Amino acid sequence: MNTKPKCLLLLAAIVCNICLMSAKDQDHTTDSITSNSLLSNLDKARTFYEHQDYDKATEFYLLALNEAEQNQRQNEINECLIKLGRCYQRASDFPKALDYFFQFKAIPQDQKIPKDIASVNRYIAKIYQKLGDYEKSFNYHLEALHLCEKHNDSTGIARCYYELGYLFFYQDQFERSRAYFDKAQEIYQKQENERKLFSCLSAIGCIYGSIDSLDIALDYQFRALDLARKLDIKSGEATTLHNIGVYYTLDSAYALGLEYLLMGLERRITIKDKWGQIGSHKYLGDHYIMVGQPYKAIDHLEKGLALSDELGTKTRHAELYQSIAEAYAKMGNYPKSNEFWQNYAMLKDSLMGDRVAEELGASKTQYEVLKKQMEISALKDKQKIDTLQYRVLLFGITMFLFFIICGFLTYHFYSQKKLNQILAEKSKKIRSQNEELALTNQKLELTNQELAFINTRLEFSNEELKRFAYIASHDLKAPLRTIGSFTSLLRRQYGHLFDDTAWEYMGFIVDGAKHMHQLLEDLLAYSRIEKAQNFEKWLDTREIVHTALSNLQFNIENKGAKIDIEEATLPKIKGNPSLMTQLFQNIISNGIKFAGDYPPHIHIGCRANGLKYTFAISDNGIGIDDAFSEKIFEMFSRLHVPGKYEGTGIGLATCKKIIKGYGGDIWVESKIGEGSTFYFTLPKDN
Ligand code: ADP
Repeated sequence: MNTKPKCLLLLAAIVCNICLMSAKDQDHTTDSITSNSLLSNLDKARTFYEHQDYDKATEFYLLALNEAEQNQRQNEINECLIKLGRCYQRASDFPKALDYFFQFKAIPQDQKIPKDIASVNRYIAKIYQKLGDYEKSFNYHLEALHLCEKHNDSTGIARCYYELGYLFFYQDQFERSRAYFDKAQEIYQKQENERKLFSCLSAIGCIYGSIDSLDIALDYQFRALDLARKLDIKSGEATTLHNIGVYYTLDSAYALGLEYLLMGLERRITIKDKWGQIGSHKYLGDHYIMVGQPYKAIDHLEKGLALSDELGTKTRHAELYQSIAEAYAKMGNYPKSNEFWQNYAMLKDSLMGDRVAEELGASKTQYEVLKKQMEISALKDKQKIDTLQYRVLLFGITMFLFFIICGFLTYHFYSQKKLNQILAEKSKKIRSQNEELALTNQKLELTNQELAFINTRLEFSNEELKRFAYIASHDLKAPLRTIGSFTSLLRRQYGHLFDDTAWEYMGFIVDGAKHMHQLLEDLLAYSRIEKAQNFEKWLDTREIVHTALSNLQFNIENKGAKIDIEEATLPKIKGNPSLMTQLFQNIISNGIKFAGDYPPHIHIGCRANGLKYTFAISDNGIGIDDAFSEKIFEMFSRLHVPGKYEGTGIGLATCKKIIKGYGGDIWVESKIGEGSTFYFTLPKDN
């Protein structure tokens, strides 16, 4: 992978971190303010809760819950939810209480204390018990019990047993109730928790009292009484004294019964327990009825009735009406008795109505609770679905991104691979091209070296040739002169001795020497061309032509040649006068020399075209075969047997060399028997 995506990712991470850090810094001050407010609201809520002001406690717990949720303070959220549930439970708003308890239950297990979970289960169980849904109540109690057992919380276990005992006692299932109370008692005994032990003993006593096992009931009540006194539980002592009085009375131990009932009443008066006092008055009334003292009975029963009026408890009222009716009947005051029976009957009807209404209310509450539960479960389901959808979406996005990244990486990998392949191929090609180039360079260098070598050799050869031509033509002139001189001497001094053949031979020697002389002259002229070309000046070609013609005057007259000159066409050119004269002279002399059956007729003219001049010198001579039109410009090229025409075969080669030296061209156009035209070009401004 290349470094570019890495750099981008790193940059993104740094930007995110900076953003988070700045966000954290900003939140820091707000956090501490909220935290202070949360703790203050919690303190207030706790205080109101301890003082049983549940409305106020609810108000502050709600504020605290809101702040705790905003700051994600889980411990505080847990406390608020439990306490709000408890507040609504105390205010008998069971649907709301259950709502908060279930919210607490919905929090993940690892964010809660097991003890709190067990307590909340117990609170829910109690609510269902109140609502008459004993099965649900039992289940939640069991859930709490299992949790306490799981965490070896013996106090919690004892508490659950106690609550279960109470649940079954409430349902008049005394056997099961006693079994749970026994278990609770056993644990409390081990723990030496006497306060709780007192509650258990008292409860078990009541169970035995309810099943008419009065001796055992009294035994438990006395044990409870001892503990209540020892622990100074005043209300507990009053209740236990009352219970003992009731059981003694039921066991026909009236004196003892009366004694304990009166003690119970006295304690209840002392601790201002009006509810308890109503109970005491009722049982004292019943006691006096049983022992045949109806007046005393009515006295207590009416005191109870007055307190019941004060507290507005219809149930106690009805019980009191019934007892008063019985007391009047014992007294023989049947109208009064009848009157109270009627009161009793009316109240009972009203109570029945109230009970029905209460049951209806309970059903309604149950319905609301059920509805709430269904709403919660629907909400949870929706939450689950939302979470699932969110997870699916998240998974989908992750997979999508994964595939995109994979695709990108694969594409990147393959394109890189392909690129590398192409690069490798290209480098290979370049390498081979470089090798070829190097080879070509080597060859070129070699060729250049060879060329340089050849040039050097050529230059050397040319120099040699020039030197040879010059030396030959120059140095050979001396022996030739000697031959000429001695031939003349031989002819003068010994000519009278020669016969005809000797004279003929002498003639051959003189001709040969002449030809040799001409050859040397021509060669010398040829070899001097290059040097002569260094001397340039403006020339009038008309003058050049006339000089050449005057040089050829003898030949012209001898052959009766006619010369036509297009004077007006002959231009001025830059060049060497002697070379130019030689050029014109050579061509004109050839035209005269190679004449046919008629006297020679030479025509000289020039045409200007573009940047050059084209000169034309034509004759009416024997003509030249096309096959030799180029060959004739080579050195020593002659188309005829020696003797027929004079010449050395160097004239046209010299012309070509002069023309080439000026950058021009030379050629011939001819037909055998019809004459020839020699053309040559010269630049206008050379
Ligand atoms: P030469 O000394 O023989 O004239 P040149 O080099 O001048 O040598 O000419 C070469 C040959 O070209 C001549 O020998 C001749 O055969 C041929 N030649 C040149 N000029 C003419 C012409 N005007 N007509 C016919 N033949 C010619």
